[in-house]
Amino acid sequence: MKTILLILILSISLTAPHLTAQNIPSPKEIIGHELGEKYTSHAQIENYILTLKDFARDRLRVVPYGKTYECRTLYIVIISSPENINLLEEIKSSIKKISDPRKTNDKEIAQIIKSTPAIAWLSYGVHGNEASATEAAIDVIHQLASRSDEEIMFLLKNLVIIIDPLLNPDGHERYVNFQTERAGKKPVEDRAAVEHSEDWPYGRSNHYYFDLNRDWAWLTQKETQARIKAYQEWKPQVHADFHEMGYNSSYFFFPSFKPVNKNIPKNTIEWGEIYGRANADAFDKKGWSYWSGEVFDLFYPGFGDSWPSLNGAIGMTYEQAGQTGIRIKRSDETILTLKDRIDHHSTTSFATLRATAENREKRLIDFYQFFKDAVDEGKNGSIKNYIIDISKDPAQAAKMVNLLLNQGIEIEKTVKDVTLNELNTYFQKGKLTKNIPSGSYIIKLDQPAKRLISSLMEEEPVLVDTFFYDISTWSLPVAFGIETYWTTKPLNISTEKITATKIKEGEVVGGKAMYAYVFRWNSNNAIKLLVYLLQNNYKVHSALKEFKIHGEKFERGSIIIPVGGNRSDIHEKINELAREYHIKIYAAKSGFTEEGINLGSDRAVRLKKPRIIVATNSPVSSESYGAIWSMFDNDYGIDFVPVQIDRIKWLDLHDYTAMIFPDDWGNGSGYKNELDSNAIQKIKTWIAGGGTFIGIEGGAAFASASVGKIANVKFKEKKKGEDKKDQKTEDNKDIKKDDKLTQEDIEKMMTIEERVKKDRLNYIPGTMLRVQLDNSHPLGFGYDSIITVLKTSRTIYELSPNGYNVGIYTRSPRLSGYISRENEKMLEQTPAIIHEQLGSGNIILFADDPNFRGFWDSLNRLFLNSVLILPNVRDVRMTAN
Ligand SMILES: [Zn+2]
Repeated sequence: MKTILLILILSISLTAPHLTAQNIPSPKEIIGHELGEKYTSHAQIENYILTLKDFARDRLRVVPYGKTYECRTLYIVIISSPENINLLEEIKSSIKKISDPRKTNDKEIAQIIKSTPAIAWLSYGVHGNEASATEAAIDVIHQLASRSDEEIMFLLKNLVIIIDPLLNPDGHERYVNFQTERAGKKPVEDRAAVEHSEDWPYGRSNHYYFDLNRDWAWLTQKETQARIKAYQEWKPQVHADFHEMGYNSSYFFFPSFKPVNKNIPKNTIEWGEIYGRANADAFDKKGWSYWSGEVFDLFYPGFGDSWPSLNGAIGMTYEQAGQTGIRIKRSDETILTLKDRIDHHSTTSFATLRATAENREKRLIDFYQFFKDAVDEGKNGSIKNYIIDISKDPAQAAKMVNLLLNQGIEIEKTVKDVTLNELNTYFQKGKLTKNIPSGSYIIKLDQPAKRLISSLMEEEPVLVDTFFYDISTWSLPVAFGIETYWTTKPLNISTEKITATKIKEGEVVGGKAMYAYVFRWNSNNAIKLLVYLLQNNYKVHSALKEFKIHGEKFERGSIIIPVGGNRSDIHEKINELAREYHIKIYAAKSGFTEEGINLGSDRAVRLKKPRIIVATNSPVSSESYGAIWSMFDNDYGIDFVPVQIDRIKWLDLHDYTAMIFPDDWGNGSGYKNELDSNAIQKIKTWIAGGGTFIGIEGGAAFASASVGKIANVKFKEKKKGEDKKDQKTEDNKDIKKDDKLTQEDIEKMMTIEERVKKDRLNYIPGTMLRVQLDNSHPLGFGYDSIITVLKTSRTIYELSPNGYNVGIYTRSPRLSGYISRENEKMLEQTPAIIHEQLGSGNIILFADDPNFRGFWDSLNRLFLNSVLILPNVRDVRMTAN
């Protein structure tokens, strides 16, 4: 035995004499426990990889690439052969060449591919409570750093392996703390044990409770922003994203389920099969269970599989059964251990690396072909350019352009004013002619990022199926509320390439004001400015009616800052703020306007500094709460008081102006279970005394007369007989029909297949709907008469009997995404935004979450009108003539 070992060691050192990978410390030596015994903290992982950096210098690099909100460092670990490690910059630039076919040719590429390792990127732990992924990453790093057998040498020679051991350190830490605090000497196998079910808000999300595996396309969070930057620097050819699912399952790997985003080429799916086969072989050898080709689709571009796939990689999701403590007894009586979970993820990690190394050349050739085809698609496809109009809200347009630039998309800008015709726009049929001001942004589609651009900007992703793992539509310009056009012909205008945006400075028009300063309520920067003024105790009013000064019309909602009553430094301050927030502020010499109300009118209401409660903790949806938290904290700097929902029973409410109930888990019943009739009565009394209650989705459902009975509006129920006529609609075409049978009878007779299909058809997965907005109502201030919302729930309301139905789904409201004809009909002309008055207070209900995932920026003002403006309006009828 000893001789064999000696020969082995000798042969390894002979075949790889340059390697100094021996004496690499094991995880236990540095971390203090064997992998699988306990969960490992961020600090321990950090300590381990930084130790390896010194011990395995010749094959390993550790690169910090960002910080989390809680100030933990994000790292990638780069591992390859010593030869490759010394040539990382050259390899990087070769990969850049392969990913831009405009700058090279097939012959040069063939040369490069011969000598260039493929980049394989493995991502672990984007969901912090799917914790075996990160434990597996430590194992994979250790093996790659310490082993010198043929298998490893083959991988290191053919690949540059990039490992992100922990994409979401803050969520992971929340989870590890939860586990560590509850751990006894021995893990409890009983699945009823507390270690198998976490507390709110769970470790899945990041600090602000954002799901980072929905954020790849929108970059709302720091972690994503930093990661995409690192990713684009390396442009990997394969990206595997390691997760966990319910503990009773087995293991999932690609190929994915349908639908597949139509911008992802067929070839990507074929590669999914290659990797699937490789993983299956590895699992078959060990007799482990697995499944593929079900549940997890490749449609929504914000995932860690689809986003890389839109960037030329083979992006894949791997799911291990888990999300539990160290050991658990499953329904089938088998024991699942953390050690098993780590082994499974390590095994697919190595199988994925092996398949990439074995197919290195083919993978690089197809990667090159991906971009070559993308450029051709851009040249020959029906859409040639997107034009982003800067005239309405230049700061918001710049925000969108920055997001696209950060994703690696090339953008140009116009250098003089031009008039363009035959322009198309979102959801408006026919061609338009528009004046496009100098400095507008142009995205030409004949570029390598074409497929990513299309997936983010297109009007509607093509729907091939009615089952979606996530939302069924998105469209960045619509979500951001930025006028964007596209052309079907190449543009013949002069443009220049940009690497960053520059917004025109704000200014004060008309010099020093005698009476007041005024600005329009038509941009998200106007919100920032208003919040600054309110929170710094400036005296501010909002106009409930239009007026005219400087020959310019100011719409309802415009903000008036009177000179009198404000501090004497107001003039300098306003100049400074105009510049800082890029806002045009107008100086009024007199309160006597040219038209409309005077600036001192009673219809210019004083805005008070809001004092806001936001309900938090279970059963509040952490995602819906997190979107508000992040918006208040990061985007607008709005002070608020997060209050645990059960504390509302005890809290003295009279100090607060607004109370926000985000979406809940249970469509209103979550709140109902938490708040008894006394608590509900207390909220009603507070509203009647002048408070403003704001309910979002489940929070709105709770307040409705159908659940918590705070408001009068109730759910719309299907009327008897309504189904009968709908039977003939397309949705039900496969379902048995017989004129003598009632719908209930038909449903009772359905096969399982038919029942499941009917349920799916009924589901609203995230669909863009058009809403007619009453913009004379303070909630609609700053908007045109039509807005676009994203609907993700099936709750439909009757019109409020005594309130204001401020937003109403239009006739045929569907703009984009999946909705059954039956649901669309049922939604027609029902309310999306409701305002009821109770005593001297307000109840505001949003049927759909206007803050969805923090990227539906176009509705920020709508939501914030409910907090900043409406509570100050004693009678909304004052907005009328
Ligand atoms: Zn996950």
